[in-house]
Amino acid sequence: MNENREQDAVHIDRIVLREIHLPLAEPFRTATGVVEQRRIVLLEITDVDGLSAWSECVAEAVPAYSPETVDGAWRTLSEWIIPIAIGKIFPHPRLLHFALQDSLRGNHMARAAVEMGSWAIAAQRANESLAAYLAHASTLEGAPRESVETGIAVGMQSSTDALIDRVRAAQADGYQRIKLKISPGYDVEIVREVRNAVGESAPLSVDANGSYSLDTPADIVTLKALDAFDLVMIEQPLARDDLVGHAQLQRMMKTSLCLDESVLDDSSVDDIIALGSGHIVNVKAGRVGGFTEALAIHDRCARADIPVWCGGMLECGIGRAYNVALASLPNFSLPGDLSPSARYWERDVITSPWTMDSHGRVRVPLDRPGIGVEVDTAFIDELTVREASFERS
Ligand code: MG
Repeated sequence: MNENREQDAVHIDRIVLREIHLPLAEPFRTATGVVEQRRIVLLEITDVDGLSAWSECVAEAVPAYSPETVDGAWRTLSEWIIPIAIGKIFPHPRLLHFALQDSLRGNHMARAAVEMGSWAIAAQRANESLAAYLAHASTLEGAPRESVETGIAVGMQSSTDALIDRVRAAQADGYQRIKLKISPGYDVEIVREVRNAVGESAPLSVDANGSYSLDTPADIVTLKALDAFDLVMIEQPLARDDLVGHAQLQRMMKTSLCLDESVLDDSSVDDIIALGSGHIVNVKAGRVGGFTEALAIHDRCARADIPVWCGGMLECGIGRAYNVALASLPNFSLPGDLSPSARYWERDVITSPWTMDSHGRVRVPLDRPGIGVEVDTAFIDELTVREASFERS
């Protein structure tokens, strides 16, 4: 890790906040109706020297995955986060993180939008790709990878045949890990059929989003039955605050448990290691408040021999750039949720959409300073439904 250099300093002059409605390539059905577009909060952050970076807040419209929402993040950014971030000199992006952490509880996704943007600006000042800049800030040795492997999450389908078709299509596309969403009643038989259809060697995993409980005896039977299918991992089987239950379950099972919703900062990882709550960690920089914590988690897990991977939050091409940079670090040794733009969006907000090769690899833009994508500002203007501007006084 380098000492702070002059070019690491972050001094923000202006932040423009926008909400865009970005049409999905394929609408999806939720409990409350059909969602045809993603509401996304974007930030354009400009420093006192005129360097600017776009960043994305990964909060969703509905507080289902996380307590944060688009509307809550908009308010929190406007009233509390941006006033702390703007106009002061932070000798390193890390110090902006600590200033936000000291002043505000929670609101990790809203904080991360500003914090990660400040890393992108610092990378530009250092004339480095964001990936290289992050690698320098890590306590681990090692250069960023030139490309990263991608996995995919396949949502629940109306029939097992439809699910198997989706899984086969993902294999044909080159995805290196295929994750099925499970919940009580949609689990062992589904996994069995998919495993039989794709063969023994296909890298399959499942994600329960915390929908099982050790207080329910049938759930324990179900989860133990999943051991038969050689899954790469079972992600977040139990509730987010149940690290003790995860540790008990991990001792009953040979399949590695992976924590997602439970990981809110690097102290969560200390608890996971101390308790033995799982063998794999999913890192979402937004969920942990930004890159300062994401790097600490990455480094801490590496020292404990816990592989990590980069989860996705249905980001547009801007947020994906941050994920790709993070996923290029050495201990991101499992494929991340880094699907190409076309999987999610009719048209992405960047001029060159993210693509993936036939081996499921996404190229890391190491040859460009900062986030490495060009933002399609005219398209963003068309999509913008509200905008607010904040300047240094
Ligand atoms: Mg998950």
